[in-house]
Amino acid sequence: MNRDHAVVIGGSMTGLLAARVLLDHFDRVSLVERDRFPAGAAFRPGIPQSRHLHVLWTRGLEIMEDLFPGVEKTLLAAGAVELRAPADALWLTPAGWRGRFDLRRLLTFSRPLLDWALRTRLTAEGACALDVLEGNEVTGLAPRGPDVAGVRLRSGETMTADLVVDATGRSSRAPAWLATLGYPAPPETLVDPLLGYASRFYAIPDGFDPGWKALYLQAAPPATRRTGGLFPQEGGRWICSLSGAGRDYGPTNEEAFLAFAKGLRDPVLYEAIRDAEPLSPITGFRRTANHRRHYERLPAWPRGFVVMGDAACAFNPIYGQGMSVAAISALALDRCLREDPADLERRFQRRVARSAAGAWLVATGEDLRYPETEAARTGLSTRLINAYVDRVVAAANVDQRVCAKLLDVLALSSAPASLFSPGVLARVAAKRLRSA
Ligand SMILES: Cc1cc2nc3c(=O)[nH]c(=O)nc-3n(C[C@H](O)[C@H](O)[C@H](O)COP(=O)(O)OP(=O)(O)OC[C@H]3O[C@@H](n4cnc5c(N)ncnc54)[C@H](O)[C@@H]3O)c2cc1C
Repeated sequence: MNRDHAVVIGGSMTGLLAARVLLDHFDRVSLVERDRFPAGAAFRPGIPQSRHLHVLWTRGLEIMEDLFPGVEKTLLAAGAVELRAPADALWLTPAGWRGRFDLRRLLTFSRPLLDWALRTRLTAEGACALDVLEGNEVTGLAPRGPDVAGVRLRSGETMTADLVVDATGRSSRAPAWLATLGYPAPPETLVDPLLGYASRFYAIPDGFDPGWKALYLQAAPPATRRTGGLFPQEGGRWICSLSGAGRDYGPTNEEAFLAFAKGLRDPVLYEAIRDAEPLSPITGFRRTANHRRHYERLPAWPRGFVVMGDAACAFNPIYGQGMSVAAISALALDRCLREDPADLERRFQRRVARSAAGAWLVATGEDLRYPETEAARTGLSTRLINAYVDRVVAAANVDQRVCAKLLDVLALSSAPASLFSPGVLARVAAKRLRSA
């Protein structure tokens, strides 16, 4: 493969991280984004989910700091809030309140702030080699025989490229684009918990200091389907995101929103927002199914094209994994480009699949607890694993070491299989014996 020019389609989290990696490997990188980017940390229509709570787990932040050294400082200087996790949060798990162990550092901020921080760094670092085409759209792939030679733009031009990266999110048209080159559609897996978000920003009341900085009240399926999160953000604001599975969608009407908050498993979140000053309307979002396109299983694949991020695998966002998986996939892209160039695209699709595997197991395993979840039903193994995970969660509430292991898995620092290590098994069994 020549390394003259790479094109990234989509300028959201996956696209920004991919472009950063590609700048180390190609003479020129073009980033094509349908929206025009806002001047600062502001909402744009192409990322409608940015009006909802976005938690960036440790692994994601670590990778972003590696790719853009100093980005944490930029976020903190712009007002991001530092939390100790779970010490600074009241966290109601399905098995009760989590012990307030001091295990991890977490930064919380709005999603537009993170995009702005990465985008400004990318454009500064890529000053000579990066070309940002805003307000333009890729409408298809330009073929060279069975391979990809570039992209077609809505503006009418064709842009040639040695590598094209699809980072267009859930609405990716890659299956249709590949079909025009004669490739079959990838097998897909859908696990839809029929979950909907509703979110609103509030001003944190002056002098508010109840001994916690964030609230996370989880559902306890199958009995309860509602989850609520209240997290601090830059600008002295809280973001409050309420969600419900099994079509018990978070409501966007004022009265119903408060009633939904009151119906969570504990009134603490409702009591915090009841008299707080709202700073925004309430916004809903329902496109939350776990959706995986198995490009790695296709028998043939074009040279010059890869798919990553939500375009390849999107998760029910309630577990906060999408941005971190995008970051892990960006690292995988870097590794593939440093290795033997033969068969790069197929190797990368296999790595994308592997990067998403742990997060997929966590998200779909949890979602299959809801009887309404639409999926090809899995059998005994999911039920057995979930029964064991219930015990891990209960043990993690009182045992700091089990809690640390569980957080490692949730934060994508360890594989879910690590919860089956002899150390964790022994502590979970000990907790069970004590309870008995
Ligand atoms: C409600 C909600 C809450 C979430 N919460 C979290 C969380 O707490 N933690 C977390 O890690 N993740 C969370 N996520 C997931 C996270 O938002 C995504 O995983 C993340 O944005 C990565 O997505 P992406 O960049 O692959 O695609 P997207 O963010 O969907 O971006 C796709 C981009 O491509 C552009 N585009 C599309 N088509 C074209 C085209 N043809 N030409 C040019 N440009 C195009 C779009 O305008 C957009 O900018 C949440 C998601 C939702 C829906």
